[in-house]
Amino acid sequence: MKRDRHKTILLMTERSEGVNPHALTMELAACARALSPEGRDEITIAWTDPGAQDSMDALSRGTGCRVLVLYGDRPLDYTCEVFTRESAALARELGAGIVIVPHTPRGYDYAPRLAVRLGACCITAIEGVERDGETLRLVRTACFGKISSSIESGDGPLVLTVMPGAFRTDHPSKEAAPVVERRSVSTRMETTGSVSVRSAKGGALDFSNADVIVSAGRGMQKAENVNLVRELSRRFPRPAVGGSRIACDLGWLDYDAQVGITGKAVAPRLYVACGISGALQHVAAIRGSRHIVAINRDPSAAIFKEADAGVVEDAITFIPLLLAEIDSRKGSAP
Ligand SMILES: Cc1cc2nc3c(=O)[nH]c(=O)nc-3n(C[C@H](O)[C@H](O)[C@H](O)COP(=O)(O)OP(=O)(O)OC[C@H]3O[C@@H](n4cnc5c(N)ncnc54)[C@H](O)[C@@H]3O)c2cc1C
Repeated sequence: MKRDRHKTILLMTERSEGVNPHALTMELAACARALSPEGRDEITIAWTDPGAQDSMDALSRGTGCRVLVLYGDRPLDYTCEVFTRESAALARELGAGIVIVPHTPRGYDYAPRLAVRLGACCITAIEGVERDGETLRLVRTACFGKISSSIESGDGPLVLTVMPGAFRTDHPSKEAAPVVERRSVSTRMETTGSVSVRSAKGGALDFSNADVIVSAGRGMQKAENVNLVRELSRRFPRPAVGGSRIACDLGWLDYDAQVGITGKAVAPRLYVACGISGALQHVAAIRGSRHIVAINRDPSAAIFKEADAGVVEDAITFIPLLLAEIDSRKGSAP
């Protein structure tokens, strides 16, 4: 892919409850900057949640990008058709050479369809960008993380989905004045519509907004012991509780909490794996975490290869001791 062809990089965001600017959007902006390190391309963020003007200004300042706030006669709820139609129209209008979408269940739902509409090449689950002179290659893994491949696309337009956590949030070197514009779009549904949107039980922070995720695996032995994991998560700011597929299969946690290639990819500042063996299908989805800590009684568990710090202990014995220690330090803090 030669760089001269691209003039605008369009970032399609997701509406999310909670914090603005959305962490994923910052990562998409970091990916766009990796694709255009000299800043030759204009980066435009299409934001689908009107929200407060202040938060849009902060998003524009925090990323150094123009923000287009999309609004319609009703909220722009996700359906594949509406997102495909409106993002295709926007990409054409802006003359976007690259459209970047988060690799989330919504993102990878509509990205291939969008690519077909635009006559673009679609490359999914991007984790990195490599440069070789003027040529850019996109890096993605395959076979549950066993293989890393570098993909060179043709010169035509591109639709990319970006793995959450793959691109570190960076900040533009100088603070620019925010550029926020409003753009009316059609919310007309064609053959499908969104009936309702339900939040995960418990109203916990979603993974993309969590700073710390503490996850339970089969090593927690029984459902009641998952409360230890919940307790540990509560000792951190902005926490969420996750689990391995087996922990979810056993009914200890809802499938919403499943971390892994068939669950969610996560990228918190700290990921704590409790009684998780470290199967590829799990670890492939946690590699974007800034720090990984593993608690496992088996010193040869594969999770320790991924972990920055490891505790070789029985989690059922260790976590209560850790909680007591944390609480005693809090109690003795001046
Ligand atoms: C197509 C496919 C997709 C999959 N998708 C996913 C996915 O999205 N997410 C996912 O997680 N898995 C997924 N899996 C399953 C995956 O292969 C593993 O089976 C699963 O991750 C293992 O879960 P676990 O680590 O909780 O359990 P186990 O592999 O059974 O590991 C339990 C660990 O706990 C340790 N342990 C036991 N007792 C204690 C104790 N008292 N204290 C401390 N440590 C203890 C053990 O040493 C062991 O390492 C998928 C599999 C397939 C085939």
